Amino acid sequence: MGSCYGKRSQSDYGTQNIDNQPETDNSSPQKFQHIDEQACLGNLIITNEKVGLITKDYTLLNPPLGSGAYGEVRKAIHKSTNMMRAVKIIHKAQTSMEEQERLMNEVKILQKLDHPNIIKIHEFYQDESFFYIVTELCTGGDLFDKLSQEGSLSEKKAAEIMKQILSAINYCHNEKIVHRDLKPENLLYESDKENSMLKIIDFGTSKEFVPKQKLNQKLGITTYIAPEVLKRKYDEKCDIWSCGVILYILLCGYPPFDARSEGRIMEKVSKGVYSFDSQEWEEVTKEAKEFVRKMLQFEPNKRINAQQALNDPWIKRFTNPTEFDRPLMTEVLTNMRKFTKQQKLQEAVFKFIVVQLATKEEKAELLKIFQCLDTNQDGKLSKQELLVGYSKVMKPIEAAEEVNCIFQQVDKNNSGSIDYTEFVVATIDRQQLLSKQRLQVTFHMFDKDKSGSITIDELKEIFSGIPEEMWKQVVQDFDSNSDGQISLEEFFAMMKKID
Ligand code: ADP
Repeated sequence: MGSCYGKRSQSDYGTQNIDNQPETDNSSPQKFQHIDEQACLGNLIITNEKVGLITKDYTLLNPPLGSGAYGEVRKAIHKSTNMMRAVKIIHKAQTSMEEQERLMNEVKILQKLDHPNIIKIHEFYQDESFFYIVTELCTGGDLFDKLSQEGSLSEKKAAEIMKQILSAINYCHNEKIVHRDLKPENLLYESDKENSMLKIIDFGTSKEFVPKQKLNQKLGITTYIAPEVLKRKYDEKCDIWSCGVILYILLCGYPPFDARSEGRIMEKVSKGVYSFDSQEWEEVTKEAKEFVRKMLQFEPNKRINAQQALNDPWIKRFTNPTEFDRPLMTEVLTNMRKFTKQQKLQEAVFKFIVVQLATKEEKAELLKIFQCLDTNQDGKLSKQELLVGYSKVMKPIEAAEEVNCIFQQVDKNNSGSIDYTEFVVATIDRQQLLSKQRLQVTFHMFDKDKSGSITIDELKEIFSGIPEEMWKQVVQDFDSNSDGQISLEEFFAMMKKID
């Protein structure tokens, strides 16, 4: 089928604050600050900000992967691990205070979010002239490219795409984050493999919201913008509208509200009138059109939310539920049972390795089990969901005991649910992960001054939030020659205790 979906939206050159007015809602404005941004992993914190030259740790490659409003995104190789990453580079002198705030906001929000369909942040650097955001690398192009190649997609493919986007958005909304700039250019394929996962990027315009409090900044791209955003009185449902526009395009190849000028598009959006009249829609099922209607419902109060969208009959009909793989589930849940209270530092190092060094392949099967357990698809595991999972592989009474015990140990941030990284940390095959080679790499990453041993100060720089008492304990337990430093051998000994 031919496609009229030929042009990229303007926000390739940055998402517009359409009328350039600052947000004036009641929530406190984000002040630009010298951030000590922290990736919270449970109640342990890995400090991610690095001051100094990124080129000490990364080789930046050319040509750029893409360019945004305030700089470019480059592919990079992490020198000590050879892992490939993406680095967003922002020129300080060319950005206003407001734009720098936007960047800090993006870093802060990305560090908070932990979902398989949301781009993962690894590090944040700044030197005199630039800011650098290091994230996982996506190599499969964006959804816009896919659409340009294929015109429109089958309902099955469209549903698989929408399920991933909605799952991430459901998670964001539960975390009280609204994205505000959903569009195909901000949806990247992790790789060019057939079943590659989609990742939402560009959280520069996203915002923490307070339920029932309206936002008022006009943001986003006119094609995807919700009518209530134009009126500057909206909430997180604006993301669902954008999902509706995306789905409409996926199914027919052109946008629901289109015209030659931005002004005319805005006029159409503000009326909210669109149709399924053209021939591209003839073959599309009634359920699909109904689902589009529910997401492009003019009144935000009557519009479905992300959770309801995920449970829509159309999504259910065209996507496969994650298959229940008993042997794998048993193995994973057994690993989780074995997850015993570690020394805090070992646990922190282990999380560091999972986040920074575990490969997609090592996590792929765990993701399947996670999705299988996460029955309400909010991107987290509740006690009840875990109980249902365990009851499939053991007696109900044992399962209940098991789950209580696991929650005490795995839910490190006491959130009442287990998030994706906590799950991976608790269930990954430790022996495989903690190979000698990988521990060596980790050791060298910690040993910043390349002295051949790690000092407590070097560790403190990476892991904040660990009490002074514990550092003393670490020295006592593992520093066998009492020189106040941890050698490679001592580090191996320390990590061996994890099994
Ligand atoms: P901006 O916020 O400045 O608009 P984006 O985050 O949208 O920047 O990134 C600009 C472009 O860089 C994207 O459209 C995409 O092509 C590319 N890009 C961004 N992040 C990644 C990534 N993690 N992997 C691969 N390419 C990326």
